[in-house]
Amino acid sequence: MTKSNILTDTFGRKHNYLRISLTERCNLRCTYCMPADGIQLSPKAHIMTYEEIFTIAKQFVDHGVTKIRLTGGEPLVRKDAAQIIEKLASLPVQLTLTTNGVIVDKFIELFKKSGIKTLNVSLDSLDSQKNQKITRRQYFEKVYNNIILLVQEGFKVKVNCVLMKGFNDNEIIDFINLSKDLPLHVRFIEFMPFDGNQWKMDKLVSLKEILSEVHSNFKKEDIIKLEDAPSDTTKSYQIKNYQGTFAIISSVTNPFCDGCNRVRLTANGQIKNCLFSSTESDLLTPLREGKSIAPIIEKAVKGKFKIRSGMDTLDKFKRIDGHNNRSMITIGG
Ligand code: SAM
Ligand code: SF4
Repeated sequence: MTKSNILTDTFGRKHNYLRISLTERCNLRCTYCMPADGIQLSPKAHIMTYEEIFTIAKQFVDHGVTKIRLTGGEPLVRKDAAQIIEKLASLPVQLTLTTNGVIVDKFIELFKKSGIKTLNVSLDSLDSQKNQKITRRQYFEKVYNNIILLVQEGFKVKVNCVLMKGFNDNEIIDFINLSKDLPLHVRFIEFMPFDGNQWKMDKLVSLKEILSEVHSNFKKEDIIKLEDAPSDTTKSYQIKNYQGTFAIISSVTNPFCDGCNRVRLTANGQIKNCLFSSTESDLLTPLREGKSIAPIIEKAVKGKFKIRSGMDTLDKFKRIDGHNNRSMITIGG
């Protein structure tokens, strides 16, 4: 078997994109991501160390991974985050991050030194009070200013916005208008079910509804559909003469599994072959026992379902309520 085969699943999808969660901890408490009363954190001894993260990442890279995203929890609250970023930057990969933006200003020079060019920053409302309500913390100004700072410093910034009916769906156009004078890439994400996030189908703002709002506010000829790569999770658009773009991530109403190239590694060293998978494969224990982890990675990849961990229809999907999956904060979105 050639080295790269272990990351190819039974549907021929090549997994060249690894998302590593650095921590289960976070400095925000977003309602859609974690339960109000918090989560049971893994014992510290069960969290991958800096060296273990590098060893596992290197194995993936040796088998064909070309892109690594660091996520969490909030990846930047981990004490050795800077050290991990520097070390992973020595691998031949495109390195990137998903962050809530609260403390990114402290990492600008490190990002530059590490070759990080693109960052995803989460921001769900442009209204400071609403933002406080959704994140259960008050950091709106900080995050907003940090997004502007990142743009000024030359980073490509994608703004992740989870839409929820009756809460922030009236801000769709305001978010798109952010991309008028700033080269920002706004991404509307359909609200997804995870443990403890009170998901209901009727809270979700669908791809169809988002596009309908766009069409009610802009002239048809000004809405430009952009090309999406096969492995893109987004449907991308641009408003004519706007500097930035907007996109929709419709994991619920219009899954994009055909081109999926992602594998997730949780902070406690488990692989998830799909965001919606309720099963995981432990890499950390065998790694600590000195065993080879390649066969475990291969088994996990080969066990991947064609669509959304077997929930191939919206009906099947609606029947789950997230209880068979971790909270998003412990997966790493
Ligand atoms: N703390 C970082 C952040 O917020 O960007 C990284 C981790 S967070 C889990 C990664 C992404 O998952 C964020 O963009 C967040 O909005 C998204 N996310 C969390 N829970 C979600 C849910 N229930 N539905 C859709 N997206 C979700
Ligand atoms: Fe923290 Fe990100 Fe989850 Fe919000 S979405 S609670 S910032 S991990």
